[in-house]
Amino acid sequence: MNIIDVGLNFNGSLTYENNPQEIVLHHAEASNCTVQDIHSWHLANGWLGIGYHFFINKQGNIYRGRPENAVGSHCPKHNSISLGVCFEGDFMTENMTQEQISAYKELIKYIRAKYGDIPIYGHKELYSTECPGNNFPLEAFKDIVVNNISEIGWHKDATGWYYLTNTQGWYYKDSWQKIDGEWYSFDSEGYARQFVWLQDQAKWYYLKDNCKMAKVEWLWVDGECYCFNEHGELYVDCFTSDGYRVDQTGAWIQ
Ligand SMILES: [Zn+2]
Repeated sequence: MNIIDVGLNFNGSLTYENNPQEIVLHHAEASNCTVQDIHSWHLANGWLGIGYHFFINKQGNIYRGRPENAVGSHCPKHNSISLGVCFEGDFMTENMTQEQISAYKELIKYIRAKYGDIPIYGHKELYSTECPGNNFPLEAFKDIVVNNISEIGWHKDATGWYYLTNTQGWYYKDSWQKIDGEWYSFDSEGYARQFVWLQDQAKWYYLKDNCKMAKVEWLWVDGECYCFNEHGELYVDCFTSDGYRVDQTGAWIQ
């Protein structure tokens, strides 16, 4: 990995007392900018210069800001115990480029090799701010390192099951997905729905304890028995394909 040093001049003496124990992620909140731009903006704040230690542009180039051992200026109360990493872009409205994601992974490898498996935070987790923006893939970026997850496929954390679709930490969310012949429904956080009813296009579906969509089967749920067709749709107010009567809620009429 190449860290580009453009030779920024700091306006005074930096304090070389930084002891990195965490990584704090930021966005530039600017669609197009260079490491020099950020340096000049921070000089204009009356600071010594760029407050971050690293900057990753949209092409995936990694630039050095402050030296790693210099106290930063990017997150109050964390400046002497962290490394600040800033990404070009405004992730309230934009999405990160694939090049930035790849560069981020390389940078994290570099940082971990030097400082150990230190935790990663988004700026907004440590300070009242929207940084690094709603579209920033914060959970994926944290998971990549904290759990060292990079394998495509199913993974489980304290909240539930999720499915990584590539080694950059992208995962299914807000959608139905057919995986190994079974249908699953992922919520907006990326977790597979489990033990719940779901209404979609006026049809009712049920996601079972193993997250699989119920289909071509009868299921007992909260004391009632329900039947699902080959598409996973609940039979409602009709006779099922095997000839039983169900009511308007889909419950079997005994
Ligand atoms: Zn920030």
